[in-house]
Amino acid sequence: MLSQTSPQTPPPPYQGLLARYGSLLELPPHTTPITLLEGNTPLIPVPRLAADMGGGFELFVKFEGLNPTGSFKDRGMTAAISEAVGKGVKTVICASTGNTAASAAAYAARAGVRAIVLIPEGKVAAGKLAGAVAYGAQVVQVQGSFDDALSLVVAISQKHPIALVNSLNPYRLEGQKTGAFEICDVLGSAPDWLCLPVGNAGNISAYWMGFKQYDELKNTGLPRVLGVQAAGAAPLVLGHPVEKPETVATAIRIGRPARGEQALQAAEESHGQIIAATDAQILAMQKRLAAEGVWVEPASAAGLAGLAEHIRTGALNPTGKRIVAIVTGHGLKDPDIVTRDLRPTVLPAELGALEETILR
Ligand SMILES: *Cc1c(COP(=O)(O)O)cnc(C)c1O
Repeated sequence: MLSQTSPQTPPPPYQGLLARYGSLLELPPHTTPITLLEGNTPLIPVPRLAADMGGGFELFVKFEGLNPTGSFKDRGMTAAISEAVGKGVKTVICASTGNTAASAAAYAARAGVRAIVLIPEGKVAAGKLAGAVAYGAQVVQVQGSFDDALSLVVAISQKHPIALVNSLNPYRLEGQKTGAFEICDVLGSAPDWLCLPVGNAGNISAYWMGFKQYDELKNTGLPRVLGVQAAGAAPLVLGHPVEKPETVATAIRIGRPARGEQALQAAEESHGQIIAATDAQILAMQKRLAAEGVWVEPASAAGLAGLAEHIRTGALNPTGKRIVAIVTGHGLKDPDIVTRDLRPTVLPAELGALEETILR
């Protein structure tokens, strides 16, 4: 039953991350908010999944796939594009085959500036680039690797008034800190553990910065951080770069993380860890999460896959704890992974045939 409280003044409309948390972010005064009302994503309790992992603890997923372009990249992009546009920049550029490209393209479109996206040659998932194309970015394919593409965008942004919006841009991390603020604001304090996937390692670094800042400000406490890489792309677990990273979790298929040192420090300072999950574990968790009604792209399930394994092996005792998993991007970003083995049952358009098939 709905509660019978008397009508109250409605809260002011949500105006995006910079309006809500801008005073806590280190952004230059010229920053001019460009927003698509990103952030404010739900923290969804998943008690059945917690029970499957052994139970006795609270588990929440923060569904970052519900950001405007379907991934957490929008948190960083509102900050990076707002800073660039406020400075008078008319063109932004990034190297990406995925979510960064779509996010940069959308925020550039919103600001009315030009976006250029460099993609490496080879396997380029059409579904992931569709966003960048739809939002009107100029897509350029480079005959080389992702690292080559990144070197080029760094070089050109140093030579011309073109803003680099990869996560080397410090304002990206400032924006991404807000995920930690939101969790503390909803729960009233930091969780005991935070688990999340790690690719270029910007997000884990940003969350740790955010939790530390909020704790200093509001005494919200600190989580232990469990960062999870894909086993075929796990430089931070192996302790050396991976020349040919391979995993179905394309968003974290990175062999030389730009923010690797910061990520290792976040794990160490928080008394957490960086571990690896296999593709099979990641895909199984993607499926398991979808069975809760939360469909995420494979990379986004890595944090939970690692958590489940860590609990199963006894490396992490969750009893009585509150755990938050960041699920970073929407399942619609990579539909092929789900539909590639789809063989739908084909029936004549007859009631009997349908009964025979579904009531057996
Ligand atoms: C970018 C991305 C990641 C990895 O984040 P990093 O900051 O590179 O570690 C994970 N999942 C999704 C869906 C992403 O788009």
